[in-house]
Amino acid sequence: METIRLGKTEMMVSKLGFGGIPIQRLSEDDAVAVVRRCLDLGITFLDTANGYTTSEERIGKAIKGRRQGLVLATKTHARTAEGVKSDLKLSLERLGVDSIDLYQFHGVSDSDNLKMVLDPNGPMAVLEEAKRAGQVKHIGITSHSMDIAKEAVKSDRFETIMFPFNFITSEPADELLPLTREHDVGFIAMKPLAGGMLDNATIAFKYLFQFPDLVPIPGIEKIHEIEEIVQILEGPRQMTEAEEQEMQRLRDELGTRFCRRCEYCQPCTVEIPITTVMTSTSFFKRMPPERFFSGMVETAMEKAANCTECGECEERCPYNLPIREMIAEQVKWYREEKRKYNEQVTT
Ligand code: SF4
Ligand code: SF4
Repeated sequence: METIRLGKTEMMVSKLGFGGIPIQRLSEDDAVAVVRRCLDLGITFLDTANGYTTSEERIGKAIKGRRQGLVLATKTHARTAEGVKSDLKLSLERLGVDSIDLYQFHGVSDSDNLKMVLDPNGPMAVLEEAKRAGQVKHIGITSHSMDIAKEAVKSDRFETIMFPFNFITSEPADELLPLTREHDVGFIAMKPLAGGMLDNATIAFKYLFQFPDLVPIPGIEKIHEIEEIVQILEGPRQMTEAEEQEMQRLRDELGTRFCRRCEYCQPCTVEIPITTVMTSTSFFKRMPPERFFSGMVETAMEKAANCTECGECEERCPYNLPIREMIAEQVKWYREEKRKYNEQVTT
């Protein structure tokens, strides 16, 4: 498979990467089979996270005996030195490797978090020490906030940035990619299918493959999905006129109701985690159901049911999303899906 240079890391990675969220939903054997098929197809860049439950361990099992030539990326949500140390140790154990090629700070969404990460006695110091010890080869960051992503790139402290990029969330083409080129920071495109909202893989990947220096990491759950994307990569990449028109139609249809998870709408007056609620359909497609109907998402939905419709969040959303209406729809949909799930597990 064609390779690209991942910015100043100087690592060459396959032009198509593997996103490790959805394999949590599979049996272990199926998950291992999916990862191995990706390797057979020539994918060399695998991304996972400490927070994706079984994902690291399953990738570890799949790559046993095949580590050479792979670029393994994982990430931590920890924001303290101790937390990063312990997450790194866990990642190394779960992946069954001596070193991780790219270790990223996961979901850095505001200036306070960026400061915490860069604290000279905190998380960054731990990873720089791990780099000297050979446990980590390169350090990156992931974010959904354009302002933070730009600040992170300009700081020159990170070798890669992972940011959502697809033909709906296409702002990075003008706002972030030129900056990453200027600073020679590797660009990893998360959410190439807009978190499961885009069914048309041909258009979604033809759009992204036109950029010669980024690596998209679709979350892969089924072997046929990755086979289809590889075919797109290897086929004619120019969009046909009909595909261009369809892309525009989808932009018009979805663009006004697509949450970018940028968090500019926060804080909510009654502490509703707006992004979790707005993007729960995407979690539904990627998370094991027992986790989706409990814990973080359930709590978010309970809070969302208390929306006072004050409208303050809508004034702050740069994409003018009808947040109040969408929250009400999501709560209704979640309750219905939960009812169906409960019925299923009790019969
Ligand atoms: S409209 Fe609802 S979600 Fe938005 S700030 Fe007010 S209470 Fe929070
Ligand atoms: S609702 Fe708007 S401001 Fe809030 S996270 Fe989504 S896109 Fe960003």
